[in-house]
Amino acid sequence: MNIKKRTKPLILQKYEVLRTRLKSDFPRVHHIEREYGKYLKGYMGEVNVDYFLQFLEPISTILQDICLKVGGKSVQLDNIIISQHAIYIVEVKNYSGTIIFDTTLNQFTRDDGKNETGFSHPIAQAKLQQLKLQNWLQHNGYTNIPIYYLIAISEPTTRIKVIGDTESIAKVVAHGERIPHIILDIEKKLENPNKILHQKIGHLMLRKNIDFDRDIMQEHRIKRQDLMNGVKCTNCERLGMQRTPRSWVCPKCGHKDRHAHYLAIREYLLLFPWITNPECKNFLQVDSRHMVNKALKNVNLTYEPAHKRWLRK
Ligand SMILES: [Zn+2]
Repeated sequence: MNIKKRTKPLILQKYEVLRTRLKSDFPRVHHIEREYGKYLKGYMGEVNVDYFLQFLEPISTILQDICLKVGGKSVQLDNIIISQHAIYIVEVKNYSGTIIFDTTLNQFTRDDGKNETGFSHPIAQAKLQQLKLQNWLQHNGYTNIPIYYLIAISEPTTRIKVIGDTESIAKVVAHGERIPHIILDIEKKLENPNKILHQKIGHLMLRKNIDFDRDIMQEHRIKRQDLMNGVKCTNCERLGMQRTPRSWVCPKCGHKDRHAHYLAIREYLLLFPWITNPECKNFLQVDSRHMVNKALKNVNLTYEPAHKRWLRK
């Protein structure tokens, strides 16, 4: 059973808002576009692999996109599959062209037809995740559960090439569609008289899951004044809906929406942790303090009187 389905990651949602709100003369626009493209591609790859992993649902507990805290550090995992015999970490990687594992030199490179580029080794990354997950399980009273890691290549056209020990790589790296078969083969070989209570561990992970987040505004040095103000049309997504006494109207497509300002407030609070009344007035481009106050009260926020600001919960 899948008890935590993948949703669009918070960071990807942030980039989507940024792309529509960032002023065009912002100096690092191209860098942001590149990062957005990377996140989007990664997410699409994960969704591709989800299709194949769902065939394991009858025999396991599956959690997608999980982030756990271990000893003050966090471990983020694309997929966790818990069966009666073992836990499988499935990390999804998105590479185009040919990927080359050199087991003698312990190197990992990608050849896109033009250049050969070195990347951080996906197996080394997965091993570290395995270790962190093992620590987390121990910390929560579970010992001696075998943990396997697998690397799913999301793009079916990616060529996987091995220099050296092909067998050792083939055991852990495969295209998404082969991953369920690899897991089922391992399952057949495992004989564990004490069956793992996979639902119980799965629900514990779900309870301890934290939302993986990063302050991309700080990373890209984006200030509030770098964003365009205004209410976005809930139909054509253009900025600049106009306030009428009872509603919002889009001058471009004529769409009317009484609640259009809530989308703008949500977007703002996705990027920033708090908002003040004057900031909100400015962002929505309205004059009415009263209207802004009412709107902020209707959103699930906490008011901090000392700073006269509304905080994300
Ligand atoms: Zn419109």
